[in-house]
Parts: sequence; C-alpha cells; structure tokens
Amino acid sequence: MTLIDGKGTAAAIRGELKERTVAFEAKSGRKAGLGVVIIGDDSASQVYVRNKTKACEEVGIRSVTKSLPADISQEEAERAVEALCSDPSMDGILVQLPLPRHLDERKLLAKIPVEKDVDGFSEYNLGLLAMNRRGTVACTPLGIMELLRRYRIDVGGKDAVVVGRSNIVGRPMALLFLNDDATVTVCHSHTKDLCSVCRKADILVAAVGKAKFIKADMVKEGAVVIDVGMDRDENGKLCGDVDFDTVKEKASFITPVPGGVGPMTVAMLLSNVVEAAEKTLK
Ligand code: NAP
Repeated sequence: MTLIDGKGTAAAIRGELKERTVAFEAKSGRKAGLGVVIIGDDSASQVYVRNKTKACEEVGIRSVTKSLPADISQEEAERAVEALCSDPSMDGILVQLPLPRHLDERKLLAKIPVEKDVDGFSEYNLGLLAMNRRGTVACTPLGIMELLRRYRIDVGGKDAVVVGRSNIVGRPMALLFLNDDATVTVCHSHTKDLCSVCRKADILVAAVGKAKFIKADMVKEGAVVIDVGMDRDENGKLCGDVDFDTVKEKASFITPVPGGVGPMTVAMLLSNVVEAAEKTLK
C-alpha cells in the first residue's frame, strides 16, 4: 500500500506557485489577489479562512477578508460581494460556505463574475465541466485529479465510483473522471447495495460526510481509495469517511485524513487564483 501524501504534494505545489506569483508581479506591477467573504461566526469556517489566507501569504498572493455579521440581509451581503468583485486587484473571490440559513447561497454566488470564480462553484463553470470544456474546476476534485496525476495513477478505462453527489465535490469529481475516460458510477443516499457497487471500483472516492463510513468489505483488493471526508470520530478526533486502519490493508493507494485531500484543496484554490491573475495579462 502506498500512502498518498497530500500534505507534501500541496507544499510542492505551493513552491511552484510562488515562482508564478513572482513572475506575475514582475509583469503586472502588483500581487495576485484573493478576496474572501465570510459571513457569521462558524468556527470551522473561521479556521478554513485563516488557513487559506495564510497559504496565500506563503505563495505571494495578497488576500483581503471581509467579515460580515451573521444577521446581514441578502441585499447587504450581495452589495459587499459586488464591492469586492469590482476591485480590479482582486483576481479571485470566494464566499466561504456554509452561509447562515436565511441567505440565498445561489443568488449570492451568482454575484461573482465567472472569471473571478476561483472556487469553481458557479453554474457556468460547472456547466463547462459537464460539457468537457475548460473552465475553473472546484478545488477539492481538482486536487484529487492532481494527486492521481502526480502519483501516476491512470484514470482512463478504470471503474471509478464516487460516493456523494454534492455540487462542490461528488458531482464535479464524477465529471472529471468521465472527462478523463473512466467508467463512472455516482452513489448517494438512495443507492441500492452500496457495498457491491463500491467493491467494483478501481478508484473509490468517498465524499459522504460520515465518519469511517467506507469499511474494508466495500473495497476491492488493490483499489485506489481517496477520502474526502472531514469528520469527527467517537472521541472527537478528526477522521475521514474511510475506515482507514482496515481499508489500508486492501488498498493499493490511499489518502490519509488529515494530510490527504484537505491540503490539496487549499493548494488548488491558490492555483486557481494564480491562473485567474495570469489570464488578466492576456
Ligand atoms: P454533502 O453536501 O453533505 O453531500 C454528501 C453526499 O453523501 C450526498 O450526495 C449524500 O446523498 C451522500 N450520502 C449521505 N449518506 C449516504 C449513504 N448512507 N450512502 C450513500 N451516500 C450517502 O457533503 P460534501 O460537501 O460533498 O462533503 C462531503 C465530505 O467531504 C464532508 O465530510 C466534508 O466535510 C468533506 N469535505 C472535505 C473537503 C476537503 O478539502 N477535504 C472539501 C469539501 C468537503 P444525497 O445526495 O442523496 O443526500
């Protein structure tokens, strides 16, 4: 079994991005910029935003965070997003999710211009992906493809099973696999006999949000297992959707939690920002 080192790979990518931000600054006379909007005081979101801004700093991206109160109205939130988007030094904009319940996520995200949609969550970018055309791809599935590429794991012709169909992970993941010539099955809460579907996978991606949900009897001998989950076990310790200790005995490659997909998500966000900045030079 080979452990896929997301942490180390993400660090290598940040090193590569640093060279590109230096080159961008030399050409444009300014740093690449990321604008972040965070609404409310969800503690996990605060941590994610801090990690993202710290990573920006490391690679030479200027980040600006706008913190808005949890009880902000839809109109005010939209105005704040629009104001940040209209700043030409902001190459990418992200609105940290989840939003307080009273806000309309779809309407708020629609305020981000497509070229600044560095999370790849817009209907336009997801639509491009669905049509196998180049756009900005959501960071988590993009990071998984990058890990597979760097570990020389070929996707073409493989049976790929994705458990989860969210717009930010499962769905774009399935489309990326399909676009790379895998035979793709997408599972969700209505899937019958999940065990036997998962057991067919050469590449199994778990994006369910349930601690240690994927057990060894759901995994084919020699499968590549990618764990997207960020869950808490019975002791409150961070773990994934995969029962790592038993599944690692059957997998050929496996990502750990923490240190697998998570750091790659942040690295791909930085990569999407740098790419958006570089496009402004053309
Ligand atoms: P989500 O929106 O809650 O989607 C979960 C998916 O799992 C849904 O499609 C759901 O099916 C499916 N599901 C739930 N119970 C199931 C069951 N018993 N059998 C089969 N499928 C089932 O979650 P998400 O945003 O995609 O996130 C998934 C996990 O990844 C979470 O732990 C999240 O924290 C983590 N995550 C990690 C990163 C990272 O960077 N590492 C990034 C994003 C998310 P239905 O559609 O039928 O409800």
